[in-house]
Amino acid sequence: PHFFPDLISIAERMATVKHKILVLSGKGGVGKSTFSAQLAFALAAMDFQVGLLDIDICGPSIPKMLGLEGQDVHQSNLGWSPVYIESNLGVMSIGFMLPNPDEAVIWRGPRKNGLIKQFLKDVYWGELDFLVVDAPPGTSDEHISIVQCLKATGIDGAIIVTTPQQVSLIDVRKEVSFCKTVGVKVLGVVENMSSLCQPLLDMKFLKTTEAGEQTDVTEWVGEYIREKAPELLNLITYSEVFDSSGGGAAKMCREMDVPFLGKVPLDPQLCKAAEEGRSCFGDQKCGVSASALKKIIEKL
Ligand code: ADP
Repeated sequence: PHFFPDLISIAERMATVKHKILVLSGKGGVGKSTFSAQLAFALAAMDFQVGLLDIDICGPSIPKMLGLEGQDVHQSNLGWSPVYIESNLGVMSIGFMLPNPDEAVIWRGPRKNGLIKQFLKDVYWGELDFLVVDAPPGTSDEHISIVQCLKATGIDGAIIVTTPQQVSLIDVRKEVSFCKTVGVKVLGVVENMSSLCQPLLDMKFLKTTEAGEQTDVTEWVGEYIREKAPELLNLITYSEVFDSSGGGAAKMCREMDVPFLGKVPLDPQLCKAAEEGRSCFGDQKCGVSASALKKIIEKL
């Protein structure tokens, strides 16, 4: 079957989408895609109808983070059909259309702009409560395109993801000022990888011998705790990995007059869930990061 995309406008497509949220970051590698993926999983678990659109054309990580690598997009008489994880969670990414995931996508602005427009016009999402858009880092062609295309249909706002370090926060300020310039509301800032958080028994313990060598005494420590202090077994450890002496994202939010949504710890189990394309919510071991994400979502 063929459909006639030119006859359908972005406004018509978006008319069935209640809320549109952009997820932005100043820098790459701060956990923006992880957050977008987990946000989509969480909203779907709350029984909302959710679409996740990945417009990071040069580095689409969403297919992997949702366990959808190698999937294809199909065309129906209604348009391109997203790839569904659950009946209420559909995903669209350029990653589904690349013949070889190792190949670099080297496109100039107009071509990226064209694809974003096409995504918005030709993908048949149906009725959605939320469309979560995972943007590339920074403020470049993709950001201008998505805002231009969606503005008339109403964007609820942007969530900006950062790590606590100054170098990341400096770029968040740019992101906030981009939002202000283009008239997109900042829903808030999430500080990701705030501190390292893991169960005591997941940690490795090293001992330095007199000869200056390090030996792994993890097993010995585990046995010692089980035997002598079993009440410590369920302890969770927190350690500050990054320097947040400057006050981190919370302080920056106060200064820039934007909401601070909360902190998500650096959690090896959350990383594992993302690597395996799973939601952290159903995972007991992701307890702390899952509850941090939940608190953030409640504030949105
Ligand atoms: P970005 O989209 O900002 O480039 P990603 O979401 O791709 O960043 O995250 C980069 C890496 O960091 C991924 O491997 C991801 O699993 C990991 N990661 C992100 N947030 C966390 C976290 N809170 N705890 C542990 N690992 C994380």
